[in-house]
Amino acid sequence: IAFLQSIPKAELHAHLHGSIPISVLQSLARKSKTSNAQYNDSITKGLKILEDGVQLEAIDDFFGLFPAIYSLISNDENLATVTEAVIETFIGSVDGAPPQCQYLELRTTPRSNRNMTRRQYLQIVLAVIERYPADKVALIVSLDWRMKPQDALESLNAIVNLYQEGRRIVGVDLCGDPQAADVDKLLPFLQSAQAKGLAITVHIAETAANPETETNGLLDLPPSRLGHATFLNDEACARVLKEKIPIEICLSSNLLKIILYASVSVHDHFNRRLLISPQTDDILPFRNSLLGEYALLLAKPPLGLGLARSEIERIAKQGMESRFRPRPPVEAVAEQDD
Ligand code: IMP
Repeated sequence: IAFLQSIPKAELHAHLHGSIPISVLQSLARKSKTSNAQYNDSITKGLKILEDGVQLEAIDDFFGLFPAIYSLISNDENLATVTEAVIETFIGSVDGAPPQCQYLELRTTPRSNRNMTRRQYLQIVLAVIERYPADKVALIVSLDWRMKPQDALESLNAIVNLYQEGRRIVGVDLCGDPQAADVDKLLPFLQSAQAKGLAITVHIAETAANPETETNGLLDLPPSRLGHATFLNDEACARVLKEKIPIEICLSSNLLKIILYASVSVHDHFNRRLLISPQTDDILPFRNSLLGEYALLLAKPPLGLGLARSEIERIAKQGMESRFRPRPPVEAVAEQDD
């Protein structure tokens, strides 16, 4: 463990609402009790699933976890609280242990509700992130497959405006239930963000059911990084290798969702010399940690990859090198626009 702790690591694929420490959610749940019995009941049930350990047999079991979490975090105070708690989990020194990583790119999907617009949502998250040094934490903003074009447009406008105002957004992600994937619907929004200078990462080939046309459409962008990429076919792998696109592998997340295939796939990626680096995805349901993800690289097959320490050092360095570039200064953006 001392070896794994000693190497500089970057967490590049952590979803905010999937990474909240359970103790923080429990405390928010205690404070949020209302006279609405139905609301209290849905929170209690949602928390119990997370406390007991999530059983994921179908992909819907996973995406169904989030509504209860969201209902606890619908105001600015709670959103700021969970953002800080997640950042501290990754780069803080929890219980005296060394930080899990040296750099965190946290991602979240802007939501609007009666308390806030999508822009206000992002402003709250950014205000917390910007209390930390720029070489420690930055924000990736996610678009979700389930968004209607109007929601995606609203998100894109908020992202681009905040980015051009010099706020610490480094990239845009595409995530959400892969069963709702529709490349034609969301690709134009990613292209617009890319044209403004934002880096793009996409959840790609996350399940066996994601069609090749979708994978190819996403690769055409081309993205600056890929998330999961578990079911890339040979042709796509060759393209990713040629274009040197780094992959955020999420072993524990994949293992829970699609059992051992993930470890075999990651081993293949490693053997093909694809630029992989391990990431946590959602530590709340998966009960993993970045250190644990690196430990899986070290562990013997079939669960782990049984890699040598020198290889693990190389992979960690790859992760650090795959960080999105900090935004250009605001003046430079203005000059380019002219
Ligand atoms: P948020 O973006 O901060 O709200 O974090 C939770 C959201 O991230 C979920 O509602 C999903 O849309 C997305 N997400 C979390 N894990 C995954 C994954 O493994 N695949 C695709 N989307 C995910």
